Amino acid sequence: MGLYRRPTDLDEAMAALAESPMTVLAGGTDFYPARVGRPVAEDILDVTALAPLRGIAEAGDHIRIGATTRWSELLAAPLPPWFDGLKLAAREVGGVQIQNAGTIAGNLCNASPAADGVPPLIALDAAVELASRRGWRVLPLAAFITGNRRTARGADELVTAVLVPKPRHPARAGFAKLGARQYLVISIVMAAAVLEVEGGQVAAARIAVGACSPAARRLPDLEAALIGRACAPGLGRVVSPALLTPLSPIDDVRGTADYRRDAAVTLVARLLDDLAGGGA
Ligand SMILES: Cc1cc2nc3c(=O)[nH]c(=O)nc-3n(C[C@H](O)[C@H](O)[C@H](O)COP(=O)(O)OP(=O)(O)OC[C@H]3O[C@@H](n4cnc5c(N)ncnc54)[C@H](O)[C@@H]3O)c2cc1C
Repeated sequence: MGLYRRPTDLDEAMAALAESPMTVLAGGTDFYPARVGRPVAEDILDVTALAPLRGIAEAGDHIRIGATTRWSELLAAPLPPWFDGLKLAAREVGGVQIQNAGTIAGNLCNASPAADGVPPLIALDAAVELASRRGWRVLPLAAFITGNRRTARGADELVTAVLVPKPRHPARAGFAKLGARQYLVISIVMAAAVLEVEGGQVAAARIAVGACSPAARRLPDLEAALIGRACAPGLGRVVSPALLTPLSPIDDVRGTADYRRDAAVTLVARLLDDLAGGGA
């Protein structure tokens, strides 16, 4: 049986992590299922009593989402429309009980290729704030998640927040998930998009697809092809398999690579059509 610590002070938490290896615990919804049937032997650092890791706040040119913000708290928060994609994803993270316990940083640190929070946050150009005794640093989310269940987090670092920059133009955002059934399901493919629109035209586009590569990927060729297009119904027709090149889906129990590639084209096209159908 290992140690269990639940500090209320961030310095104390960072000191504990600097001293010896500890497993960070937030909502436990990824942690516990990974340990079913065996005692928890490692030392645990529970971060849920750390006030600086809580809450959602506007901070100059970005919105700061505390690491231990739960999915249900995110859903209830009054956020601008460019968070609509992340909110749609929040609604898809398990059922309500999971959304009441699971945190945003837990989803990112677990770094599952099928983590629903990752594509919408990559499409929002989010960054991850990390703190340790050695200092603070901020990494783009796309650089933080380095592969299937791998991140750039040092063993002595805590994720303290997710930082989402404000878009330069009015923006709209969406998220779509394909699973074997409608709810309570691990994604076969999911897609998130943020479109910045000026004068009826796409001024900036950020599209990310999850569950089709070890970590969710943005689609730079598709994003470039969307710039300057009228943000109007039919926008999804721009999507073609050739524009989804960074994706490298695999065959697994949930679907074949070919199915995933095909589904990604359809999902992204529908998402763009839905977003282009609304008013700027
Ligand atoms: C029944 C069920 C259904 C689910 N459905 C979905 C789903 O549909 N979509 C989906 O994406 N996920 C799903 N999940 C997974 C999970 O709920 C989410 O990934 C959730 O956001 C994890 O957050 P948590 O706070 O519970 O993480 P925890 O389990 O507490 O931690 C997860 C990992 O992150 C690390 N960690 C947590 N916080 C920090 C921090 N601040 N700093 C450093 N490291 C940290 C932990 O050490 C651990 O490695 C499901 C889980 C269950 C049990």
